[in-house]
Amino acid sequence: MKNKKGTSADLKPLLAVVNDEKTFEEYLKEQIEEGYIKEDGMPLKCGCGCTEFKQVKQYYGEGWIEEYSLECTNEDCLKIVGHWAFGYWSV
Ligand SMILES: [Zn+2]
Repeated sequence: MKNKKGTSADLKPLLAVVNDEKTFEEYLKEQIEEGYIKEDGMPLKCGCGCTEFKQVKQYYGEGWIEEYSLECTNEDCLKIVGHWAFGYWSV
């Protein structure tokens, strides 16, 4: 019985992690619904409202681009709005 109690206490941090992931998914869903990113994670609009981005921090493999970040072109913002690598966007 004492062991069982210990097990449920140990589960608490795990549940917290699961909740964080759910929140992140909800955050992504919100971002998509509000038009900030596409469903694949491609940035469409910065938090400042700017929709123009430029590629920065480019990394090239054997003649083609492997990774780059997108930076907001608003001079007062300059936030990195997304990162692309090997065909996929990460937020
Ligand atoms: Zn911006």
